[in-house]
Amino acid sequence: MNSKTALVAANWKMYKTVSEALRFVEDLQAQTGPCEDREVVIAPPFTALSAVAGVLRQKGFALAAQNCHWEEQGAFTGEVSVGMLREVGCGYVVVGHSERRQLFGETDDMIRNKVAAVFRHGLIPIVCMGETLPQREAGQTFEVVVRHLTRAVEGISSDQAGQVVIAYEPVWAIGTGKTASPAQAQEVHGFLRERYAALFDKTIANQIRMVYGGSVKTDNVDALMAQPDIDGLLVGGASLDVASFRRIIQYQ
Ligand code: PEP
Repeated sequence: MNSKTALVAANWKMYKTVSEALRFVEDLQAQTGPCEDREVVIAPPFTALSAVAGVLRQKGFALAAQNCHWEEQGAFTGEVSVGMLREVGCGYVVVGHSERRQLFGETDDMIRNKVAAVFRHGLIPIVCMGETLPQREAGQTFEVVVRHLTRAVEGISSDQAGQVVIAYEPVWAIGTGKTASPAQAQEVHGFLRERYAALFDKTIANQIRMVYGGSVKTDNVDALMAQPDIDGLLVGGASLDVASFRRIIQYQ
């Protein structure tokens, strides 16, 4: 592990009502000591953001939204702007999750616009990228992730570049129980960091947090976090249960 503060984020997807979300964060905080060398981020559904925000602040946990629209406001039924998310206390926004790309048709252009909107409001994007199984089997992993990376950060300033959180999430490992091995994850993280250095510079590339997501569980978290270029985790299924998520944030 390098010296920057690791980031462990829970992506709850479309799970947990407001009361379930509140119970979870109250239980988690009651059972967890101070987390000085790691930042814990919770991304509940939109409906629970406001309620959860107040409770999270007490322990210094951060709040993330799972998605946003890139416009400030307008006739976009069902969408939520970054200004709205900032007002309820979000510090981060997950952008370009593979479920958004695959199920809701999000394109690289939309993702780039979302990244820009997140920065306009002073929040930090957690930018997701990753290859599908056919792409991995066809030897296209690096080509796919570098396209996702490059398109998402096009046009951002060096200052913003130093704040981005990159989430490498191989699509074949999300919700499937198949985890990339620590070596497979490290290989892609190392590659992405090199490409980021080429896009910006080495100092910036070393400063950003690159988190891994895809079937992170209590039994693989320590080995993943031992990799030099893995600076944190984005956790779906295993973040829905307090005991399991608590063990994950207590990785060694
Ligand atoms: C995710 O939703 O970002 C994710 C990684 O899910 P899971 O941990 O369930 O694979």
